[in-house]
Amino acid sequence: MTLLISYNPATGDPVGEVEITPSSEIPDIVALARAAQPAWQALGHEARAELLTRAHEALSARADELGRLITEEMGKPLADGIGEARSLGAGVREHLNEIAEALAPEVVEDGRLHSVVYHDPLGVCAAITPWNFPMAMPQWMVLPALAAGNTVILKPSEETPLCGQAYAQGLIDVLPSNVVQVVHGADDQGKTLVESDVDMIAFTGSRETGRHILRSASGGLKRVILEMGGKDPMIVLEDADLEEAAKFAAWNSYRNAGQVCVSTERIFVLAGVAERFTELLVEMTKNTRVANGLEDGAQVGPMVNATQRDHVLAQVEEAVAQGAEVLAGGEGHHDNFIMPTVLGGITEDMAIAREETFGPVACITSVASEEEAIERANDTPFGLGAVVFGGDVEHTARVARRMTAGMIGINRAAAGAEGTPWVGARQSGYGFHRSRDGHRQFTQTRVVTRPRV
Ligand code: ADP
Repeated sequence: MTLLISYNPATGDPVGEVEITPSSEIPDIVALARAAQPAWQALGHEARAELLTRAHEALSARADELGRLITEEMGKPLADGIGEARSLGAGVREHLNEIAEALAPEVVEDGRLHSVVYHDPLGVCAAITPWNFPMAMPQWMVLPALAAGNTVILKPSEETPLCGQAYAQGLIDVLPSNVVQVVHGADDQGKTLVESDVDMIAFTGSRETGRHILRSASGGLKRVILEMGGKDPMIVLEDADLEEAAKFAAWNSYRNAGQVCVSTERIFVLAGVAERFTELLVEMTKNTRVANGLEDGAQVGPMVNATQRDHVLAQVEEAVAQGAEVLAGGEGHHDNFIMPTVLGGITEDMAIAREETFGPVACITSVASEEEAIERANDTPFGLGAVVFGGDVEHTARVARRMTAGMIGINRAAAGAEGTPWVGARQSGYGFHRSRDGHRQFTQTRVVTRPRV
């Protein structure tokens, strides 16, 4: 038995441990999931939804305890950890109703034929999840997969196995046996799971792993949904409310220590307002409290681990060596803690301008025109979120329509209203989540047709 020990990134202390799943056992786990699937499907949506609601509401009711575990295992401030745990059950009924509507059979007729379009479960779904939202990300993939009638094998990130286990256990306690199972481990377990006899893989993580999964899944032509991070731009137009824009930039660059797939990673500000915007952002950055997430008032906790910290600091150092200017932060880092940092004078050739940073760094580029802002913001292989701040709503909306990301926010974050997809364009996404079409990606569409009488 080999153990995976999980450490608190704020203190270095162990938080707990799980048993690593030997890769050789994965085929048997998949076989159990396959055997459990027909009965789970046969229960029907309403009965499944009832059990899923009960399990998720019970998890939410433990938000204080589970939120603390999130903070201890990956570092985010306690209020955010509790918020994440509470979100597991909040709105779960509405979410399940939305899924029921999306998957209900539809009758389609023409002059001759009567057809029914069904959305059946695919079978066994593997959910491979990251550490930045260590309970919300598993729920994001596991809930729609189960609601559609699939059984699920969750492989949580090796950085947050305890959170993944706690979430899954909440379901295992309520659902029939083997409807949800957990595989613990890292790349090796992930690879073996993808290559095993699963029907679908839902993944959120890095672009490299996403590519790897797509390649492995191609052998069996398995269905995949991949969400793979971004390099989200923010444009600040001349007539923007600069106070609001700076507030948003500070929040969306530093929350969860910048470890969010839709973090603001590049800021393009029109030259006429660049100085004032920068002043405001620098001021807010200096007032951001960095501390162990369990401390009162902590706004930014530690990076999840030393590798992530080193990756961020190396990008900052390299940018500074290439001429970027440190306008705030840039020093006082200790252990896994990085002080929120504002960099000015970012140029396109810097790695920090092109590759995902996933750290609390705001990178400002002053641009001469709106055209330049749009062109540079779109000059990336990624395309998850984008944000435009401007005063004239119509005009700002026209700029927003020219952004090539999947989700564009006007004077707010990129995520859309309830019922809209969570969608990455280009190399940020392959398939997508939420919304009618997102829910249907966990299913096989079938059409049954008879002559009209
Ligand atoms: P991150 O850098 O955000 O941790 P990764 O893509 O490395 O992103 O990891 C996301 C998830 O994918 C984790 O659960 C990880 O163990 C898993 N994983 C890593 N490599 C592979 C692989 N080759 N095949 C399948 N899963 C993998």
